[in-house]
Parts: sequence; structure tokens; C-alpha cells
Amino acid sequence: MAETIKVAVRVRPLVQREIEAGATIAVAVHNNAVAVNHAGQRRTFGFDHAYWSVDPKDPNFANQEQVNTDIGKPCLENMIKGYNFCVFAYGQTGAGKTHTLSNSPTKEKQMGLIPYVLEGLFTQHRAKFKNDELRIWISFMEIYNEQIRDLLSPGRETTDLKVRDHPEFGAYVPGLTEAPCSEISDVKSLLDFGTKKRVTAATNMNAGSSRSHAVFTIRAQRLTGPKPTTGNKKDDRKSLSSRVNLVDLAGSERVAKSGADGLRLREGCAINQSLTALGLVIKQLAEIQQEPINRRRRLSVDERTKAIPFRASKLTFLLRESLAGNSRTFMVGAVSPASICADETISTLRFASSVKRV
Ligand code: ADP
Ligand code: MG
Repeated sequence: MAETIKVAVRVRPLVQREIEAGATIAVAVHNNAVAVNHAGQRRTFGFDHAYWSVDPKDPNFANQEQVNTDIGKPCLENMIKGYNFCVFAYGQTGAGKTHTLSNSPTKEKQMGLIPYVLEGLFTQHRAKFKNDELRIWISFMEIYNEQIRDLLSPGRETTDLKVRDHPEFGAYVPGLTEAPCSEISDVKSLLDFGTKKRVTAATNMNAGSSRSHAVFTIRAQRLTGPKPTTGNKKDDRKSLSSRVNLVDLAGSERVAKSGADGLRLREGCAINQSLTALGLVIKQLAEIQQEPINRRRRLSVDERTKAIPFRASKLTFLLRESLAGNSRTFMVGAVSPASICADETISTLRFASSVKRV
């Protein structure tokens, strides 16, 4: 594996519900380390980035602009060079995953990663590479109960799409809408359309929380050099293609805590199937990083990852390339600063630490 997965953790402000419950702040950030006080103990974890987004007046405050600079910028740079990129947001429901990925307020600097990257593609890069043609396609799907649903299909529901393996391009979903986009306004309306279609179910944790994994994909093709003139059919421009997956995972909290029963419980199991599989894959990828150097040199990435159960869930099958192939990948662990969430926060930080070993 050429690149390791980079891990960032973001601590959001206390929300009303936590303040009303009398929660205190149990988390601290110092440089790239996150410390949590829980059951009389202080535990500290180190990451590539740690963002303290609790109090804007705090000198350590890191806003969305910082996140976009650290993660969105390299994403744009990779895309334009024809490399793949992936960001997945992990954490308990209400911890700030969607805020970090999708926030689209009027103030430009508060834009989440998805709008930031799209805005960057349509404005900065178009302006910077005037001679080049940039083609962009968007797809948006959700995995709910181990079923894939197309969030951009305009008509009747397309549910239970399959994941297939393409020998050259890796995992893909036949039949999934890939919408060509030529303006930022196209993307914004597609994103809104898809977001409205997402399955949400109220739980005790957060009435608007989503119990599904959402995968937003941007495919870009850059054709470098001047367009062939009309009449001259031969197009000898160099083509650079890249794929970016931005994944908003379902809440990582234990189902029992949400007061789950009946359907919620069944969903919980399937959600866990994808999240459990993700955890297992991460653990095994970290293990093969420990293999002796001569084995690593002798075998290709494909051979070394052959035994890893990517196919155990739709999510891991889809993300195989992002986790073990030719992709730069970031995980963002979203956590609450509240004392009442400290055990979930520790579990997110533990997971984030295991990803850091990959
Ligand atoms: P998740 O997607 O993980 O369930 P959300 O992103 O919906 O959580 O965040 C829950 C609430 O907290 C929302 O009201 C959101 O606006 C707020 N929030 C999350 N992260 C931040 C942040 N970094 N700064 C300010 N508010 C935030
Ligand atoms: Mg969310």
C-alpha cells in the first residue's frame, strides 16, 4: 500500500440537548492529540489532525476552513492529477459527520467538504487549466439494511443494486445514476434532491438522524491540451481520470443505547454488518502492514489483501480501492465534547486509532 490512511478527529460544540442534560466538557485537544476524561481516567490518543471546534472564541478553535485546507485541498490536487481520493466520516449520531461533509450555508468559509471540493473543481480548476476540458459526473447512493438505493434516480425507486468488480476500475454499481454536471448549480440541486431521498428514522438519540451510510461519488475526467478542431476527428489529448468517494457513515453508537427494537433493531444489525465489516477490514489491513518487509516487497497489493474480507459487506466491497488500492484516504472521526457521550467518544477514538495503523 503506497499511502497510509490519514486520520483527523473533530470535536463539535455542545448542543442544546447536552447543555440541558447538564453535560460538562470531557474532551480536550492539544496539537494533534485528543484527551478524554471518563470514569476518573484520562485517555489520550494521537492523530494526523485534531480539530477543536467547540468554542469560536478559543485560540485553538479550528473552523471548517481549516478542515477544507487540510483535506479538501489535497483532494482537489489529487483529482487534477488523476488520483483517487476518499473521505469517510465516522462517529456517533449527532457528532458532526454530516456537518463536516455536507454543510452548505451561505457563508463560503463554512462550506462542508463536498461543496468545497465541487466549488473548487468548477471555479479554481477551470480557471487554472483554461485549455483543459473537465468532465464531471456525480453519483449518490445509500446503503440501508445492506441494500443499495440510488439517491439520484428521478423516477421509480431503484433499490437493492449490486456491487460488481471491474477488472480494471475496481468496484462499481451497475445501474447507478451517474449525472453529468457542467455547472455548480447542477450539483447543488442534485445534492439537495438526493439528500431529501435519504432514509431517516427517528431514534432517541437524534430525531433527524440517518441510519444509513451515504456514499457521494465525484468522477472527474480531465482532458489536457486544446480541443481538436472540428473536422479533425482525432483527439490526442491526454486523459486523467479520478474518482472521489465521500462517505457519511451511519451512527456508530450501539443499538441498545438508542432504545432500538423491532425494525430499528433489525436495521441496527445490518448497519452493524457494514460497520463491523469495516472494522474487521481495517484491523486486517493494519496487520498486513506489520508483515516483514521482504514479504511486502515480494507480493503485490492484490496478493497481500486477497484474504481480507472486503466482500463481507456492501460498504467494504465498494470502498476496497479506497482502503487498500490506489487512493489517498482520510478518515474523519466526529465526536461530541460532552461528558455524557464520553464512552461513545472513546469508542470512536479507538476505532480512529486502529485506522491510523493501516
Ligand atoms: P451526524 O451527521 O454525525 O449525525 P450532524 O453533522 O448532523 O451529526 O451534527 C449534529 C448537530 O451538531 C447539528 O445541529 C450540527 O449543525 C451541529 N454541529 C456538528 N458539528 C459542528 C461543528 N463543527 N460546528 C458547529 N456545529 C456543529
Ligand atoms: Mg448525519
